[in-house]
Amino acid sequence: MSVRIADVVKKIPRSGIRDFFEIVQSMRDVISLGIGEPDFATPWHIREAAIYSLERGRTGYSSNLGLPRFRCAIAAYIKENFKVTYEPLTEVLVSVGVSEAIDIALRALLNPGDEVLYHEPCYVSYSPSILLAGGVARPISTRWEDDFVLKAADVESAIGPRTRALLLNFPTNPSGAIMPAEELGRLAAICVKHDLVVLTDEIYSELTYDGQPHVSIAAQPGMKERTVLLHGLSKAFAMTGWRIGFACGPVEIIEAMMKIHQYSILCAPRMGQEAGIEALERGKAAVAGMKREYEMRRNVIVRSLNDMGLKCFKPRGAFYVFPKVSDTGLSGHDFSMRLLHEHKVAVVPGNAFGTYCGDHVRCSYATGLDQIKIAMERMAEFVGSL
Ligand code: PLP
Repeated sequence: MSVRIADVVKKIPRSGIRDFFEIVQSMRDVISLGIGEPDFATPWHIREAAIYSLERGRTGYSSNLGLPRFRCAIAAYIKENFKVTYEPLTEVLVSVGVSEAIDIALRALLNPGDEVLYHEPCYVSYSPSILLAGGVARPISTRWEDDFVLKAADVESAIGPRTRALLLNFPTNPSGAIMPAEELGRLAAICVKHDLVVLTDEIYSELTYDGQPHVSIAAQPGMKERTVLLHGLSKAFAMTGWRIGFACGPVEIIEAMMKIHQYSILCAPRMGQEAGIEALERGKAAVAGMKREYEMRRNVIVRSLNDMGLKCFKPRGAFYVFPKVSDTGLSGHDFSMRLLHEHKVAVVPGNAFGTYCGDHVRCSYATGLDQIKIAMERMAEFVGSL
């Protein structure tokens, strides 16, 4: 039998991160700064809430949109932290991580050939998800000289007759950038002027540093009605394996997303939703503790990179640094390969995050400080030898 794979699937590459980590896993004694996943276990009181729900036999499906109590907790959390009010029963959908929410939001909104703008460097799933939804991916480059801020003027000049949506992620994976309030305001005004829908992936919103508050584009004037706010428990609550995300947005968009979700997923995992209620209602102190640790690690890693002569934007959020390594004479790819094979430290080549990002590598500081310190010593030795 000859197996035929759909053209659109043939067109999309495998994730560069996964390919790289298959090599890492085949090696011994490697320190990995590659994984975008908290090294903390989910806080105990959240795990306990899930165990308690299992003891009570709460093991069935929830409604397609998610447990009503969880949706109420989500709406309350978003109101308190993002300053946007959503109707819990009609404007909130619980998804299988932010990953699913991105996919179904794009599929709900795009007709074949519609264009989606997004900023690079960016999370690896954006371009493939747009293509799989029948859209056309239009990256806009952001630069380390501008602190990886997305310039509203660059967005406006990229808008064409087929532009339908703008996909944002602040704080950004992999750069750690956030949007200054004035630029965010300018960007919102452009979205209103050109009638764009905004999908904003704010999965790292709790992890902003130097006392900076997180500001959501959904809270800007005229934006709530054209924005789908995507968030989840994976990062700040250290709950990657529970697979819980959520989308908040206008009723018609949430209803359209729900149709795809109900036929493909049915509902998000029940246990994760039960745990999510506890996380959002009582998880603040645990999140604050992990954030303090990330901020301390960030300071150590940025200082070390600067000391070894690598240009590095000091990230304002998330848990990644994205130094430029081209001054060593190596591309991000060659730097990562040699660092891995010669010094047993894994970082991710920048080109995994966008076509313009080959001069960089991504290092995650969701790894213990002891490991980070050893990795920095090994990296300094490597850079010194070049
Ligand atoms: N969005 C961004 C920006 C991410 O960095 C990640 C994971 O690394 C995801 C979404 C996926 O999140 P989830 O675990 O909620 O699917």
